Amino acid sequence: MSHPDTAAPAEVPDVSRRRDGLLDIYHALDERYGNGVWHWMPDVARGPFDVIAGAVLVQHTSWDNAERALNALRAAGALDPTELLARPIDGIERLARVSGMPRMKAERLRAVAATIDAAGGLNAMLALPAPELRERLLATRGIGPETADAIVLYAAGKPAFVIDAYTRRTFARLGLRPDDESYNGWQRMFVDGLGEGGSVELYQRYHGHIVLHAKALCRATPRCDPCPLRARCAEGQTRVGGVDQTGSTVVG
Ligand code: SF4
Repeated sequence: MSHPDTAAPAEVPDVSRRRDGLLDIYHALDERYGNGVWHWMPDVARGPFDVIAGAVLVQHTSWDNAERALNALRAAGALDPTELLARPIDGIERLARVSGMPRMKAERLRAVAATIDAAGGLNAMLALPAPELRERLLATRGIGPETADAIVLYAAGKPAFVIDAYTRRTFARLGLRPDDESYNGWQRMFVDGLGEGGSVELYQRYHGHIVLHAKALCRATPRCDPCPLRARCAEGQTRVGGVDQTGSTVVG
């Protein structure tokens, strides 16, 4: 299936080239964004429940809005699973309003708090093996694979490669896309491709770098000229010199 904002890859890399390619891309991104600030980096995030609540609040909105809602919940003393279960839903909705869809976000925060409670508390839940933790999260209302994997990777510090829209867009343009373009297919491409080279730290940094890259350069309309990946990118090659396939000047 072709994607309207991506060029067709020049060729489909085989598995070993794909592995080298994924690691090469990681190193190129690490060189560019290695000192960048990413809100879920271990030394930036305030704690695991902040990550969990943030992963829910950021659904369908920007991180800035999610962070403002997090701050409102924190200031009201509600950023805690027990508090979320004890308080009336209307009060949580009011605090979550700035993140958009406040009723839905409030219900999802309550649902994840109930999952934590059923597991015996936050520490007990985060101590579960990654597959069981992921399964419990996926069984929670409003938690899909991207949110579940963000929680597994950043809140629990366990291996789960997070696939988001930024990842799909950037890697499709690079010509590295799985045959099966489902969430699991994309995730398998990274997990199998990185193999033993994939650690929790690398997964965290790789995903963070992708987000920073997609916001800085690989936007809906990409800025390919200064991109560290341009030499290996099918899309970037068509836009080299700031001119796209139609001959129009690319606006960054
Ligand atoms: S060269 Fe352009 S399309 Fe390719 S990854 Fe860089 S910004 Fe994205």
